[in-house]
Amino acid sequence: MDDCIFCKIIKKEIPGTIRHEDEHCLAFDDIHPKSRIHILLVPKKHIATIADLEEGDELVIGHLVKIAKELAKKFECKGYQLVFNVGKEAGQIVFHVHLHLLGN
Ligand code: AMP
Ligand code: ZN
Repeated sequence: MDDCIFCKIIKKEIPGTIRHEDEHCLAFDDIHPKSRIHILLVPKKHIATIADLEEGDELVIGHLVKIAKELAKKFECKGYQLVFNVGKEAGQIVFHVHLHLLGN
């Protein structure tokens, strides 16, 4: 998706503070952190929202949760929230699936 900001971060066309990368996902700091640790985990495949998941996409969503758990441990979060905003009515502003890791 040419006009997708997270696809551009994945392709390294715009900078991000990258915390994890593998063949399926990228994790980088949110530019407007809402807690001590605020990392966004995105699938490398462009999927607009959780509502648009197709058969098989659940594997990468599970993978995001696994990586979020590992990053929470690495950054010594005492507790954390994992959040998907789905749809503009729920506050989604970037239409490329992302998991917020909000840790304290
Ligand atoms: P959401 O409201 O769930 O769509 O969250 C989108 C998040 O992306 C917000 O928390 C923004 O601060 C964050 N964001 C937007 N642009 C960037 C960027 N270029 N790099 C990192 N985070 C971004
Ligand atoms: Zn995208």
